[in-house]
Amino acid sequence: MDFLERCDKDLAEECSRGGCVHCGSKLHRADFERKPRGGVQGEGVVWRFSFCCSREGCRKRHTPASVRFLGRKVYLGFVVILVSAMRHGLSAERVRELRERFSIDRRTLERWRKWWLENFAQSGFWKAARARFMPPLCESALPLSLCEAFQIGCCRRERLLDLLRFLSPLTGSWLPATQGF
Ligand SMILES: [Zn+2]
Repeated sequence: MDFLERCDKDLAEECSRGGCVHCGSKLHRADFERKPRGGVQGEGVVWRFSFCCSREGCRKRHTPASVRFLGRKVYLGFVVILVSAMRHGLSAERVRELRERFSIDRRTLERWRKWWLENFAQSGFWKAARARFMPPLCESALPLSLCEAFQIGCCRRERLLDLLRFLSPLTGSWLPATQGF
């Protein structure tokens, strides 16, 4: 099981523990096949974790959040957060491997870096959210400073999920256009 699949499994277990949001009954597994989005090369159809309420007459479907099936923009955003943050602490060869794994060219990385420094740092979302960080984050070191504040490291996937949840209001058209990805 790879890293992203393990993240999804955690999210699915969290969903399952909560039971049906409509009637509180137990949930049954009801996974379905889907093609992952986000431009990861060499991956075919995979199972999306999903559940249905076990109670006759309710049967509501519950599909937990998924790192593998995030919208293309969000998914790529997440990958680029990692790649651009990690390149400060990784060998050139490791960064090249990551860029190839996720099909990200150098221009895309530069565009995202610019997005973090200009759009993100000036956004209403960030202006409201930055007060939560003490000591204040260094905005010229985004997104690395954000990753550090969330204590993201190679063995800290729960921290990565915290960061994704923090950034989740940024979905939709607010992220940079995906042309060229
Ligand atoms: Zn139910």
